[in-house]
Amino acid sequence: MFSDELEKISWEETTKAIYSKTEADVIRALGKSRCDVDDFMALISPAAEKFLEPMARLSKKYTEERFGRTMSMFIPLYITNSCTNSCVYCGFHISNPMARTILTPEEIENEYKAIKKLGPFENLLIVTGENPAKAGVPYIAKALDLAKPYFSNLKIEVMPLKTEEYAELVHHGLNGVICFQETYNKARYNVYHPRGMKSKFEWRVNGFDRMGQAGVHSIGMGVLIGLEDWRTDVTMMAYHLRYLQKHYWKTKYSVNFPRMRPAENEGFQPNVIMSDKELAQVTFAMRIFDHDVDISYSTREPANIRDHMASLGVTTMSAESKTEPGGYYTYPQALEQFHVSDERTAVEIEKALKALGREPVWKDWDASFDHVAQSHATAATAR
Ligand code: SF4
Repeated sequence: MFSDELEKISWEETTKAIYSKTEADVIRALGKSRCDVDDFMALISPAAEKFLEPMARLSKKYTEERFGRTMSMFIPLYITNSCTNSCVYCGFHISNPMARTILTPEEIENEYKAIKKLGPFENLLIVTGENPAKAGVPYIAKALDLAKPYFSNLKIEVMPLKTEEYAELVHHGLNGVICFQETYNKARYNVYHPRGMKSKFEWRVNGFDRMGQAGVHSIGMGVLIGLEDWRTDVTMMAYHLRYLQKHYWKTKYSVNFPRMRPAENEGFQPNVIMSDKELAQVTFAMRIFDHDVDISYSTREPANIRDHMASLGVTTMSAESKTEPGGYYTYPQALEQFHVSDERTAVEIEKALKALGREPVWKDWDASFDHVAQSHATAATAR
């Protein structure tokens, strides 16, 4: 399990190592065709700031070699904001006396229909708060079942589950799971996650192993930028990515660097701010470190940044996102989990991407191929 590996990596020593990287370390990393985590540290270090242009060129080159000019498009759907956790940075935390919504099957289906009117979305991300008693695995399985006639690629972002629960959801059409560790700083983790299941650091960090063991096709990772030193956190994520790729090599991986913005909610203010330049730096560094990983930008990021980065490393984007449960059809005015910056419609985003020479792709071809392969295999077994 990754928690055992993480025990061997000191947060403090890693931070020290990143900040002591030199220009020579950066140049060495840029000259390698396959970088290790030590090279990644050099590329995200302050010493690499003056190398942004060559990093951008290299990132663009690797991205186009592996992904062509495609941009995979997805849309998130929050089906409940009911949550038993108390993450200090989130408006859905248990102590917030807000009205809670758990969409009924009929309401969920209305959301699917409303989404299909926005654009030709085939990649759906179903999101929940964490309330296993009221919106647990059977509820998520039902949402997946209902989604199948509308979407070809189904992902979830829900509470970490047991291996057998992930496996069960795979049978209901689940293709991918996204989970944010939020921070890998174990000593500080409970400052942000004081109560509920999310306070259990090991349970969360080892959730990725359980996804791999259950044969989930695609795993998405991320740290919440704004809690701890982002350089150390993304380095820990790079270690985690390499670990998972070694153990679950059939799985496809994606990463995300969601930036918390000042005054995103009235209470918690970010401890660290990642500038736009730093976001570009970490994106280029990740692409140079791993040519194949999907790099995803959500609508948390403003339109100009998403457009700018669309040709330089990013390969997946959400569009026209609503972060309130039932936001597309049922309850368009409910409380958002966070405010989106890029408020353009899916059609406007598609136009902008095409103008930039990108090809927005609404369908995940890997996933569709898997489904075809799976049905062929089932048919062959039945024969
Ligand atoms: S971040 Fe997720 S788990 Fe934490 S309070 Fe918000 S919805 Fe619940």
